[in-house]
Amino acid sequence: MYESTRGNLSGQKASQAITLGMVPNGGLFVPSTIPTLNWQDLQGLTYRDVAQHVMTPYLPEFSQDVLSDIVNVYADGTFDGLNPAPLISVGKFGVLELWHGPTAAFKDMALQVLPDLLKVSLNHLNFDTDVLILVATSGDTGKAALEGFKDRDGMHIVVFYPEGGVSAVQERQMSTTEGMNTHVVAVKGNFDQCQAAVKRIFAMDTLKAQLQEKHLIFSSANSINWGRLLPQIVYYYWAYLQAVEQGKVTPGSKMNVVVPTGNFGNLLAAYYAKRMGLPIDRLISASNKNNVLVDFFSTGVYQSQRAFFQTISPSMDILVSSNFERFLYEMSGRNSERVQAWYDSLNQGTFTVDPVTLKLCQDTVFAGWANEEETLETISRSYKAYQYVFDPHTAVAMKVYEDYLSTTNDQTYTVIASTASPFKFASDVLKGLEGKKDKSWKDEWEALDELSKLTGWQIPLGLQGLDQKPAKTGNACEPQGIAELLQRMFL
Ligand SMILES: *Cc1c(COP(=O)(O)O)cnc(C)c1O
Repeated sequence: MYESTRGNLSGQKASQAITLGMVPNGGLFVPSTIPTLNWQDLQGLTYRDVAQHVMTPYLPEFSQDVLSDIVNVYADGTFDGLNPAPLISVGKFGVLELWHGPTAAFKDMALQVLPDLLKVSLNHLNFDTDVLILVATSGDTGKAALEGFKDRDGMHIVVFYPEGGVSAVQERQMSTTEGMNTHVVAVKGNFDQCQAAVKRIFAMDTLKAQLQEKHLIFSSANSINWGRLLPQIVYYYWAYLQAVEQGKVTPGSKMNVVVPTGNFGNLLAAYYAKRMGLPIDRLISASNKNNVLVDFFSTGVYQSQRAFFQTISPSMDILVSSNFERFLYEMSGRNSERVQAWYDSLNQGTFTVDPVTLKLCQDTVFAGWANEEETLETISRSYKAYQYVFDPHTAVAMKVYEDYLSTTNDQTYTVIASTASPFKFASDVLKGLEGKKDKSWKDEWEALDELSKLTGWQIPLGLQGLDQKPAKTGNACEPQGIAELLQRMFL
């Protein structure tokens, strides 16, 4: 069963949590009990089978046959190579590459599974309607969601992105998505305005009623949906199994995990893996210049009203880290009254937790951050040292890990979660590698080729020939024009 972090709903089935996405009156769904799972029982299994074992106890109403079909996406060639999440040895640590899915970012790990989880959930609840998925994206989520939902029966997806606010590669990735049920809209405004406008749509009762007459209901694919978090727990088990197999940890001894953090979903998945019994010691959270979480872990004050920086690790440019609420729920001893009070207070821009909760947060997570210069410098230094190319997000994690090592001298084997292929951010990676002020490449497409030439790494399939692919003519609208656009498209 699932309950709300704010105590306003409990006893919900997994299918209800996944269909609703978030608790209607505010709050996020968390499992009422966290199951345990021995990693030893998973030794020798494939990724797909590990996924089935990890997800089963959280989805009691899903039959094993149904779940087995769902996780087959990890074995059917959707993820390139035989291993969807290889653990690569780099120096003394491991890099868990989570970007071998169709869009070359780690969001594929969950968004390739979510549409099926949603479909089965709707069936289970006897919802005889189609779903309209709305997504606001600052880049990576949009394409991964489009790829996940394209050509799914009974599902339509519209992705909204800030016009001029995503990279050329990201825009092109989205506009070249195939499928009759996929739509992309450029919103005239920044990401915050775009996201706020989409959130308002979810609360428009007239529009909802009009769509319902057409047998359509709204749903969301963003990272607060439990159906996105659950598939992410799997790869921490997978990382540990590989570390044992590679002889990097002696069976049963602990590993550390470093995660480049934005909305805290990825780190939270590692936390749940630890709670399930996986031998994880320190959870290390890495932020970029938008270091709101680092300040929280040192002071207990969450201050979201602060300058917002656009960085070269844009998927971490976040001031209100949505999944952090789930973490605080756990750290407060599942005290929903306190969580409610903190998030009421956050409406005014800030909250402060009690010393006991803060201490537990600090004992559980080490938080650090890297600025832009350090990030670029880490890309180049790591390449020289290990011939390994980090994307800017993962480079932030690498730098924070180095800082962690020099403050603690902790020799525990450590896994860095690598969240994007460096080719997704080719020109910034080249800037780091070549240290040039004047770039020698004409555009993003040349940057991809140049990065490939320089490193000998292959451009991921999903990013090859993007500039040649036919693009859909996109829609564009003002933030306040979204409702009318949806009416034109679907009524
Ligand atoms: C989304 C994303 C992140 C942040 O992950 P969270 O789960 O939101 O903390 C980090 N790196 C990349 C490349 C991403 O796309």
